[in-house]
Amino acid sequence: MNVPVLPVLAFRAQMEDISTGSDSDYSRCWIAWFLSSKGNEYFCEVDEDFILDRFNLTGLNNEVANYAQALDLITDNLDDDIQDELRGSLDVQARLLYGLIHARWIVTARGLAKMIEKYKRADFGRCPRVLCQQQALLPVGLTDIPYEKSVKLYCGRCEDLYSPKSSRHGSIDGAYFGTTFPHLLFLVYPSLIPPKSGPADHGSTNASGRDTADRNRRRVRDEPEVPPAEGVGDSISTASVALKVERYRPRIYGFQLNETAKLQRWQEATRDRQVSRLEELERRGAI
Ligand SMILES: [Zn+2]
Repeated sequence: MNVPVLPVLAFRAQMEDISTGSDSDYSRCWIAWFLSSKGNEYFCEVDEDFILDRFNLTGLNNEVANYAQALDLITDNLDDDIQDELRGSLDVQARLLYGLIHARWIVTARGLAKMIEKYKRADFGRCPRVLCQQQALLPVGLTDIPYEKSVKLYCGRCEDLYSPKSSRHGSIDGAYFGTTFPHLLFLVYPSLIPPKSGPADHGSTNASGRDTADRNRRRVRDEPEVPPAEGVGDSISTASVALKVERYRPRIYGFQLNETAKLQRWQEATRDRQVSRLEELERRGAI
């Protein structure tokens, strides 16, 4: 059977090290071990009383095999006489269960507060986009269903998604963070929304999108200190750089955020108009 046994052995070794601890120490073992394992740095600690309240776990028994025993393992109530072979597969199920509980926990008030601590420490890394000036990122799932998509990182400044740098983090299931988390965090704590980079009138939703675009273009021409985008030389088509790509759409419990959706529609219409104009100019050989 293809079961990773090593984490269980590591866990057991650690258990033996701290076997002198009291019952209350003992009860925190599995989660403490899981959080301290390499590659699990994105996870925060789920309060034990949240896990022990069965209401919070509604429906998870259908998602996780050996649910009851996996739950016992997480809460350190697993019988010692469980066979070693079962322990190996239980560890996999316990990770899945903890991940799914974690996704529910981080959208609660206490869970958000814990994740904010990690966000402030930039535990999830920083935006690679130069203009975002080292903006800290937040983890997000592209779906709430496990085993479908790995975790991505959301930048509140450029509102774009990035893949984690490390392959260890890149293989974490996105469902352990969910599609709602970063957007709910900014909704509940608007003071944490990072300031936008770029010109001061960026994002103003007036009706004259074309005028704004023209003004921005003139400004770039008038202010030569704005560095040209790297890689945009005369051999590369300008229009092909500004692709009409599908953008990431933030959602809270499956619903698009109204203001963001309006702004995105306007931004995309402006972008598409610009791309069309560039294509037209390139066809005429003007650039
Ligand atoms: Zn960014």
